[in-house]
Amino acid sequence: MLENENYPYKFDETKCDSCEGNCCIGESGYIWITKEECIKLANLLKISVDELGEKYLFKVGYKYSIKEKQISQNSFACMFFDLDKKQCGVYEARPSQCRTFPFWEYFKNNIQEVKDECPAIVD
Ligand code: SF4
Ligand code: SF4
Repeated sequence: MLENENYPYKFDETKCDSCEGNCCIGESGYIWITKEECIKLANLLKISVDELGEKYLFKVGYKYSIKEKQISQNSFACMFFDLDKKQCGVYEARPSQCRTFPFWEYFKNNIQEVKDECPAIVD
């Protein structure tokens, strides 16, 4: 069970085994990735950072986000989500945004939203 003193909920990571990746699938959104994270991810994929950028990322202002694939009319999955295994395909090199879920600043004022999305949230 993971806790963060700044949040009014805990995170039971064992629930991820039976969840089908709600945090990687759903409405379209940004999956921010830093330059350092790009290097780690490119190394994991055994491709160059340039190739990573061309194939898997898009630029938003001065930042980069991972592309998504559309899986139904209103549902999108991160390019790196393994739809067969229902898990992250680059887990060891996933960006900090993914590592820090569900302890995002945004959820402090939107607790119900994270509860609805993630079955691992515990009061
Ligand atoms: S939504 Fe929650 S339970 Fe499901 S995979 Fe993501 S963190 Fe785990
Ligand atoms: S990098 Fe992995 S954990 Fe992050 S959104 Fe993509 S599939 Fe999910």
